Amino acid sequence: MSAIHLHNLVKKFGDFTALKTMDLTIEDGEFVALLGPSGCGKSTTMNMIAGMEQPTEGRILFGERDMAGVPMGRRGVGFVFQNYAIFTHMTVRQNLAYGPRMHGTPKAEVDRRVGAIAELLQLTPLLDRRADRLSVNILQRVAIGRSAILEPAIFLLDEPLSNVDAAFRAVMRTELKHLQRQFRQTMVYVTHDQLEAMTMADRIAVMDHGVLQQVGTPIEVYNNPANVFVAKFIGSPGMNLLPGRPAESDRGLVIDLGPLGATAPLPDRLAHVLRGSSGEVLFGFRPEQATLAAEGRGIAAPVTAVERIGARTIVHLGSGEQAMKVVLDNDQRADLDGSAVVSPDMNAVRIFDRTSGRALG
Ligand code: ATP
Repeated sequence: MSAIHLHNLVKKFGDFTALKTMDLTIEDGEFVALLGPSGCGKSTTMNMIAGMEQPTEGRILFGERDMAGVPMGRRGVGFVFQNYAIFTHMTVRQNLAYGPRMHGTPKAEVDRRVGAIAELLQLTPLLDRRADRLSVNILQRVAIGRSAILEPAIFLLDEPLSNVDAAFRAVMRTELKHLQRQFRQTMVYVTHDQLEAMTMADRIAVMDHGVLQQVGTPIEVYNNPANVFVAKFIGSPGMNLLPGRPAESDRGLVIDLGPLGATAPLPDRLAHVLRGSSGEVLFGFRPEQATLAAEGRGIAAPVTAVERIGARTIVHLGSGEQAMKVVLDNDQRADLDGSAVVSPDMNAVRIFDRTSGRALG
């Protein structure tokens, strides 16, 4: 009964439409991340699920139950915000126990739950510390514990890790996933950080400008982005997109990349879709799905920068519309001053319609 159905959901603030006709079902026990840049409508969607904002149009159902007119406190959802809300004059134990006590839970059960949640969130040694003596990292962990201890069937988290430091964020990603598995909650997680979404979510709903762009498993949105926005937004760095046109060659169908020459022949799945069309397309390949090759064996372009970042090296090539990046293992070398030849893995290539931005295959 804890599936969340969003039907034709629209939210307007005056003349401004913050959310345009969102349709999404989050299954019972599923972890879905709402991912997108600042201002794309993630929090607005979340606030409507929580009952803090009312939809301008459309419906929200929890299972079969229509949430129209159901106030926040009656929705049975747990909510954690970016800015933790905890009682600083209380100890960690008192903070964790507060909710269950308010609900009249017997003391033995409260103690059991506090013990279990503290263990899960690694708060056990800190239980008797006063909250005002603790770091932001720990406070956010307490805030998550305070909501989680009520074992809500639906748990909503809005950028809960954005104020904590990077090392702690990595730890919390694992813990939150663990928490969700343990309680089998339906979890909706708002973030602009693709790493959080990719590592924790069963499915990711990618949003931009109030429009749901794509919903899929992390690997689906990475491998098969539905459009240019998702292709660029997912991945680090995002997908390379070179303008070109399909063209017949004696080796088969290729993409004529203008000043960069032509690609290798397209695999059958793409040749099949593109044969006979001559419209402008974007030739997409991920920086990590390409290698440097010998001259004549790929796309030649001047090297503009080389970034060495530990285990990987990012080579920047070309400029303007012809700019691209290739991620190499450290044992491969790129000559900073010269030009290099990029050979994309043709089986992983995606083609997009240049005008609409939609994936063609
Ligand atoms: P962020 O991560 O920055 O919060 P977001 O994707 O969560 O981004 P929302 O907070 O949902 O974005 O906001 C979507 C758009 O709606 C933004 O342009 C925002 O300025 C606008 N907006 C949100 N709340 C209101 C409001 N109460 N009144 C007017 N405009 C609003």
